[in-house]
Amino acid sequence: MKKLQQLLKSIDGKGYKAYKSIQGRYSFHRYEISVDYVQGDPFASPSKIRIVIPDAYRPIKDEWKQSKERNIYVADHIARSVAKAIQAVAKQLQGSGKSGLIHIDQPGQEILERTAVQIKNDKTIICLSVGLPANGRRINGKEAEKLFFTILPSILKHSIFSIKDEEIEQKVQLADQHIAIREKMKENNWIAFIADGAILPRESGVSNRPLKKAVPFESTKENRVKINLPHREEPLTGMAIKQGISLIVGGGYHGKSTLLQALERGVYHHIRGDGREYVLTDPDAVKIRAEDGRQVTSVNISAFINDLPHGQATTKFTTENASGSTSQATNVVEAIEAGTTTLLIDEDTSATNFMIRDARMQALVHQDKEPITPFIDKIKQLRDDLNVSTILVMGGSGDYFDVADEVIMMDQYKPFNVTDQAREIMKNHPVSRQSVMEKLTNDMNQRIFLPQSLNLQKGKKKKVQAKSLYTILMGTSTIQLQGVEQLVDASQTRAIAELLRYMEAKEILKQAKPLADLLDDIEKVMDNEGLQAFSPFPNQHPGDLARPRRFEIAACLNRMRTTKVQ
Ligand code: ADP
Ligand code: MG
Repeated sequence: MKKLQQLLKSIDGKGYKAYKSIQGRYSFHRYEISVDYVQGDPFASPSKIRIVIPDAYRPIKDEWKQSKERNIYVADHIARSVAKAIQAVAKQLQGSGKSGLIHIDQPGQEILERTAVQIKNDKTIICLSVGLPANGRRINGKEAEKLFFTILPSILKHSIFSIKDEEIEQKVQLADQHIAIREKMKENNWIAFIADGAILPRESGVSNRPLKKAVPFESTKENRVKINLPHREEPLTGMAIKQGISLIVGGGYHGKSTLLQALERGVYHHIRGDGREYVLTDPDAVKIRAEDGRQVTSVNISAFINDLPHGQATTKFTTENASGSTSQATNVVEAIEAGTTTLLIDEDTSATNFMIRDARMQALVHQDKEPITPFIDKIKQLRDDLNVSTILVMGGSGDYFDVADEVIMMDQYKPFNVTDQAREIMKNHPVSRQSVMEKLTNDMNQRIFLPQSLNLQKGKKKKVQAKSLYTILMGTSTIQLQGVEQLVDASQTRAIAELLRYMEAKEILKQAKPLADLLDDIEKVMDNEGLQAFSPFPNQHPGDLARPRRFEIAACLNRMRTTKVQ
């Protein structure tokens, strides 16, 4: 502590580079600060420090570390409290560039495994970014002293050192409840559970917070189930959606897409107060949408699309600019390749010609002239041959009644089970459309990515960096992830970028494994070593990564314009 103080005094007023001398570890009364990385100048990305708090000074009970899930929720809570304490002291320091900035990788509405706070056996580690203060390009030692000796201590005092055990206890209980709901879902083959009282709509298109004055969710009576949860007296009730094919219908603006969006996010867990804290979906559910313009590399979409004009092959379909239907077919096939068990589809973001072709159009345009086998002709095989369920929003076509196991109608934001009525209507209005049936197999698409796919070279350097939630720059190319809707946190994107670097450095693609096996390996590394395994400096400060699912990792590999496949 003294040492740092003296150092800061001695470099006061010197050129900014002299800050490099403070790299190292310093003991404080209740914690240790490790200055891992010092920025090159006041305008560069901020310096990285770690705060290490031994359990003696902030006891973390063994039972809180007992399960991986509990550990994640406790870390999440600490990260939130540090973020709040940082906000309370914001902008107290002065100077040029990023002087005085203090930042933690703050969680959003989802509770994700992240590196910002790490709970170890005997200590807690908090990773922060700080802008070391300067006047112009000269070191401002006084402000730096204030940063380390007044502001940081105050942040810690008002966060980690003042969190009550009961607060953490509540998070641990939520973790247990989420696990319990997931277990129950598995036992009963439910792919979704939406609790009564859940708030599904969001404040706005750009906000992930709950809409105020929303109509709370209320299950249909046919779908209502009861779940006994730990740490709760009354059983939780809500709507269960079974494996199979579920159709969500209803008039425009009655809440269909809102329900589906909540299900897309239900692969993650949400904080209490979010409104979706008891909305859970099959963790391997993948949103499928049309995504014209995307890159496609050697994907077998022949189950859906065949005999394109000019004889383009669809068993190894490759394009730099996919159409609505070919991109959506690709998204289905790639999701299956990566191991999905549930597809989530909304008519609003689908290509119509991929989803339906009615009897009249079949009569006019003969089968031989139409390359597309619409999804409606494959949805049952997905269920029966591959065990892949579908939840589909479709207000515009009754053709899907024929293939649905269950039909749910949204009416003024409330669901009604109208399966029987739909059956009745099918009887009275039979449809004469022909359907094409060919068996689907799991191995229809099994690609091995070649090592040169990961081309990080940019001039003389290797570079890969997440620019935003939906953009990764790799070498001289840009990977666009706008269509990957279940990527929800920029820290997940950063983790994927780090993973690309890791895979390149470790020459992982030389193992020539099929994509699904590769994803298994990556998940094993994350399980065993944590996300920091992908960081180039795993023992320093990998403080801004959050765990992506295998499907979002695959989505990135699939969209690289440099991908080459065996
Ligand atoms: P649809 O897909 O059926 O056309 P949306 O899901 O897009 O309808 O919903 C239409 C509007 O209604 C949106 O602005 C949405 O925020 C709002 N909304 C959805 N669910 C609710 C609800 N439970 N309470 C209040 N407003 C809602
Ligand atoms: Mg809609």
